[in-house]
Amino acid sequence: MTSPRKTYIIANWKMNFTPGEASLYLSRLMKRIPAGRNPQVVLAAPTVALQTVSLQIDRRQFKLAAQNFYWRDYGAFTGETSISQIRGFVDYALVGHSERRYIFNESQEDIAKKVAAALRNGVTPVLCIGETALERKDGETAAAIYNQLASGLHEVSKEDISKVIIAYEPVWAISSNKNAKPAKPADIEKAQMVIRQDLQHIYGKAIAEAVPILYGGSVSSDTAAGYLEIEGIDGLLIGGASLIGDSFCAIVETAKRIKNER
Ligand code: PEP
Repeated sequence: MTSPRKTYIIANWKMNFTPGEASLYLSRLMKRIPAGRNPQVVLAAPTVALQTVSLQIDRRQFKLAAQNFYWRDYGAFTGETSISQIRGFVDYALVGHSERRYIFNESQEDIAKKVAAALRNGVTPVLCIGETALERKDGETAAAIYNQLASGLHEVSKEDISKVIIAYEPVWAISSNKNAKPAKPADIEKAQMVIRQDLQHIYGKAIAEAVPILYGGSVSSDTAAGYLEIEGIDGLLIGGASLIGDSFCAIVETAKRIKNER
């Protein structure tokens, strides 16, 4: 059955690349990734490089995402960048990434405010959720998912939920985690069903069906196909492997093959 949802491959470059390095890397990707919307390739460049790369990209080929921003639109918040200041560069914004939750202590309230700020500014939030290793060990995966989903979407109306993307990223599978273990596709299939059911519970069946759910966590060019073959998984959020041109281009190719064959 053809999915009504678009496929996304999102690169999270994290705190890597100066603007010059980002521009050089992008010029290599531009030669290798064909323009097109399926998959939609999105690059979450560091804030400092967004202006440079936004002047360089062909928006039919790539879209940009913010990795982080403050939820107020302007004001006396030294050192912060608001989404209203960068919305001219980006179409998407990561929100609630586990590195922000657990290294920078972002609260559920901050995350809900960021989701709302992105929507208010016409930017699609990519809400990242996922349980820790301890929550998983305690059998609390579904509860952790519901908790992060319900609180992150706290300010999102039925009209706006179709403008949100969910990225399921179990913390124990993300490569920045010391003991990271790649997740089994069967685990991701189960978690994806839990997320879809939670969305149905909050917004109703028809609306929940329209929300893209991505997977992220140590995905490589060797493992991407296993996740993309899951019916309810609409793409991938890629950290480490997005910094290696050959791996990233191979993942985009795999997504194109698998999702367009359906
Ligand atoms: C991420 O940071 O969102 C991520 C999925 O990273 P990695 O692919 O390196 O695990």
